[in-house]
Amino acid sequence: MSARDFIREELTRLEEQGLLRSLRTLQTAQGVRVQIDGKEYLSFCSNDYLGLAGHPRIFSAVRDTMKRFGWGAGAARLVAGTMGPHAELERAIAEFKGAEAAIVFPTGYMANVGTIPALVDEGDLVIGDRLNHGSIVDGCRLSRATFRFYEHVDVDDLRKRLKRRGEFRRALIVTDSVFSMDGDLAPLPEIADIAREHDAMLMVDEAHATGVFGESGRGVGEYYGVADRIDVCMGTLSKAVGSIGGFVCGSRDLVAFLRNRVRTFILTTALPPAACAASTEGLRLIADSPHLRDRLWQNVRQVADLLAGLGLDAGRGASQIFPIVVGDPDKATAVSSALGDSGLLIPAIRPPTVPKGTSRLRLTVSAAHSAEDIERLGKALAEVKSSLDL
Ligand code: PMP
Repeated sequence: MSARDFIREELTRLEEQGLLRSLRTLQTAQGVRVQIDGKEYLSFCSNDYLGLAGHPRIFSAVRDTMKRFGWGAGAARLVAGTMGPHAELERAIAEFKGAEAAIVFPTGYMANVGTIPALVDEGDLVIGDRLNHGSIVDGCRLSRATFRFYEHVDVDDLRKRLKRRGEFRRALIVTDSVFSMDGDLAPLPEIADIAREHDAMLMVDEAHATGVFGESGRGVGEYYGVADRIDVCMGTLSKAVGSIGGFVCGSRDLVAFLRNRVRTFILTTALPPAACAASTEGLRLIADSPHLRDRLWQNVRQVADLLAGLGLDAGRGASQIFPIVVGDPDKATAVSSALGDSGLLIPAIRPPTVPKGTSRLRLTVSAAHSAEDIERLGKALAEVKSSLDL
């Protein structure tokens, strides 16, 4: 079969299964109100949880840094791509997270996919929650270690699957702290106990928790008081920090080791310095603005109450992510498009992003939503619920 025929056949198959995806192009900045094809939407799908992506202080940081450092970094970090703003960002992350050191990657995806194979290899075991983010799963697969899942947030299953720990040299337990498509939390205190009992390393992905959870926004590790028991703490700068990039923090030795071993650090060009300055400013904003986190949690409670009032089981407000699970992909698309008719942007999330049979609307709330925005969401959901039998 020719490449052309194979690709056409695959596209037809995706279309028949209701799984064909296409891009929506925003004509405005990221924010609560966005424009697509000339129509204004109220967005409930961004990961810009604190509304920082369009913050004037971030613009100024980018502009000032570009004047001095230009745009492109021109080389990999270890060649000649490390500039003042990269070093400053790594110091800022370490300080924000209360860690000894941090290492920055071009994206969070690259942080996960590169770090895991540096930690475990042939003869080792890597074990992760069944609903871990795809970038963790890809990192586990890329490592040559034996890779096992444990059932979602099921610590008994994790213990059971570690019974044969003795057959392996090193073991790594890896989990999201806030699950990206379900919005629930990993039971980190129990997982940290299990890691200790079984002499396993613990890696936690705080992508959706950074800037959102814990007294100072450090993440779920801080929220549960177990941050110092996480060996490898990963996060992203692309969500609540409002910028781009991924990071890992932990001990000085961990960071020195990763700089020498991680292929997605060594073999790729450094982030533009101005992008690093944007992230550093985003972290400063998070530290300076606890009221934004308070506002976000107020909004989380309002959305949770509204969904409960509508009889929709959608995560009960464990975090800013609410999964409205519909099941069938075509139905999820129909619900999303009906909400779109009412001016709301909540795209359908379908396999392979979520497991088969669990297509959903992934609703997220931000500190930038007003109480009125959330009331409008409630009205639109009520209408769709009755017309489409949600
Ligand atoms: N981990 C999790 C849990 C995520 O949800 C994401 C992004 N969706 C990533 C990692 C990847 O981060 P980035 O978008 O910065 O590549």
